[in-house]
Amino acid sequence: MQYSDKILNTPSSFIRNILKVTGEPDVISFAGGLPNPISFPTEKLREAINNSIDVHGTKLFQYSTTQGYLPLREFIAAKYKKTHGLDIHPDEVFITTGSQQALELIGKVLINKGDGIIMEAPGYLGAIQAFTLAEPNFYSVTLEEDGLNIAELEQQLQKPNVKFIYTVPNFHNPTGITYSAEKREAIYEVVKKYDVALIEDDPYGELRFRGETLPYIGGGRLENSILLGSFSKTVTPGMRLGWIVTKNKELLDHIETAKQATDLHTNIFSQYVIYEYLANNEYKEHVDNIINLYRIQSDAMLDAMARHFPPTVKYTKPDGGMFIWVTLQEGVSALEVFHAAMEVKVAFVPGDPFYTHPENVNTLRLNYTNSTPEVIEEGIRRLGAILHAYAPA
Ligand code: PMP
Repeated sequence: MQYSDKILNTPSSFIRNILKVTGEPDVISFAGGLPNPISFPTEKLREAINNSIDVHGTKLFQYSTTQGYLPLREFIAAKYKKTHGLDIHPDEVFITTGSQQALELIGKVLINKGDGIIMEAPGYLGAIQAFTLAEPNFYSVTLEEDGLNIAELEQQLQKPNVKFIYTVPNFHNPTGITYSAEKREAIYEVVKKYDVALIEDDPYGELRFRGETLPYIGGGRLENSILLGSFSKTVTPGMRLGWIVTKNKELLDHIETAKQATDLHTNIFSQYVIYEYLANNEYKEHVDNIINLYRIQSDAMLDAMARHFPPTVKYTKPDGGMFIWVTLQEGVSALEVFHAAMEVKVAFVPGDPFYTHPENVNTLRLNYTNSTPEVIEEGIRRLGAILHAYAPA
């Protein structure tokens, strides 16, 4: 069979591929980005399913509107008012099949083959994958400890046909960093001068275990701002519920057309059930429990790293979210370390797939949310022993 250039040029997910080997029972895996299943409100969702069927009956099983269930959109709009003081109208919220689908729809709606898009380096590999299907030119901007490098951003914005900038400003995947208030303001000032969209992909923002919530860069105040959210990390990823928020009506109309072509609408059963759950439970209390769990796990990992890693190895200290980003000594291949670590049954994700132009990088991602503190200690101890073998004598 002859396949499209589009699909032939799109990388399959490195993580999903390595998860096949790292998922074996005796492997300590810091590789996936899985929420901890003990955080799923299983019994309350069971009640929500029964109540939804009792109240709404066949509506849960019928086709529905493309934009999504209105009470759920109202809940999401109200949530932004509470957390960020933003005035979002429910009609400015569009429900998607996870925020991953939002990325793919945005690619379809905004990118012509060869158009420019600006990506963080390193950046979320699912975004690289989703956008690659639309055949853009990727322009990278270095991600520093407090956000995008501003001089590089200005430079890349001079390139032809740049359509948007893609960012993950809170507890970034893969690095765990958070954009500082100053960097957010500086990016806002730059973006205002150009006819580009700014995507803020924020599936982790509610999972802050240190410091204060920061304002979005453009969310709620830039016409071309696109804010993405998700219930994957706060309630359940399996129900595949995410959303797009934008004040740009024309953009939403085009997204609606793209969504109709893709899957008509997001699973309406999931939308009714999650709304029923959210309407009848204390969402903030639930999220606070997840935050407390992840704080303990991230502290356990950072503490173990301080004791077991060679001092030449550097790493980020996240204020929330699910990841720590490790930088090995110059010249050390994270991919080589990955193979050595698998020999002692410890897995992580080497940095390479998080770059649009992969090199043999010396960076790697660790996830702490899916292991107990005891398992974290043992895994980091084993990994530390490997890293010492690569450290200068
Ligand atoms: N964006 C980022 C930055 C992510 O890390 C993820 C999940 N790994 C997603 C989007 C997709 O999440 P979902 O489709 O489950 O909402």
